[in-house]
Amino acid sequence: MSIKKYFNSNIISLVLNGIALVAIIVAGYFIYSLSQNNIALKNDMSSTTEILSRRITNLESALATTTLTSQELAQRILDQQNQSNSFQDKISNIAGTVGTLEKLSKTDKELLQKYSKVYFLNDNYVPMSLATIDQRYIWDKTKILQFHNMALTFLNRMLDQAISWNIQLQIVSAYRSFGEQSSLKNDYLVTYGSGANQFSADQGYSEHQLGTTVDLTTEGVKIPLTTNFEDTPSYKWLSENAYRYGFILSYPKNNSYYEYEPWHWRFVGVELATRLYNEKIFFSNMEQRIIDTFLVNIFD
Ligand SMILES: [Zn+2]
Repeated sequence: MSIKKYFNSNIISLVLNGIALVAIIVAGYFIYSLSQNNIALKNDMSSTTEILSRRITNLESALATTTLTSQELAQRILDQQNQSNSFQDKISNIAGTVGTLEKLSKTDKELLQKYSKVYFLNDNYVPMSLATIDQRYIWDKTKILQFHNMALTFLNRMLDQAISWNIQLQIVSAYRSFGEQSSLKNDYLVTYGSGANQFSADQGYSEHQLGTTVDLTTEGVKIPLTTNFEDTPSYKWLSENAYRYGFILSYPKNNSYYEYEPWHWRFVGVELATRLYNEKIFFSNMEQRIIDTFLVNIFD
């Protein structure tokens, strides 16, 4: 091998080694630099993750607080509603009581009083409002008879119902003022003497003055207002049905205080009449304080 050749070959080898060395250094640098970037990225990522996780935790706790608050709000709304409802109930109750009291204050308490031969209605008493009874129900067509305005509907309904059952009922007497009652009693006294005191004049006195009482008869009864009336289908029908229209027999057979008057019917309201009918009690035997509890509903 010539020197030149040897020298050339060495230079080439040197150059190649140099290139290889440089390549290794560059590659090493790249690897180093990459690994540094990787570490930085990892650091970045871990801090971002930490921030994110912290934010999530904050959000979660904020959400929990909000949920609690909305639950509390719902509860408070419910509490308020309950309070308002109970307040409403109280108002309704008070309004109901006031309504009942107002109704009661406007209802004539005399309408359910028990009257007797010794306990009379005041002479000056006149019903709140009177209405004329339809002529077709009246026994003596020459007479004009009046009845308590608010009880008249019940009377008409009863008489119409009787007609639909083919039961004939006619009114002999209804409202009687104090003056009319007095002259009637005088007539009785003239006719029957002192025995008239035992007669119907006294016991029916106040009830006719109330305007809520009628004396009834029917065709075929020769003398109206006698106990013969009890043998008629009309009386039987009344005994079984009058209570449905609020009417009761004031002086029933076998009562302890009064002469029997099958013709004399008094309006006391459907509720009370039904109670008396169902329990088979005489009006005169029921305690006044119990009777009074029916006053508010007398025209219902
Ligand atoms: Zn009578």
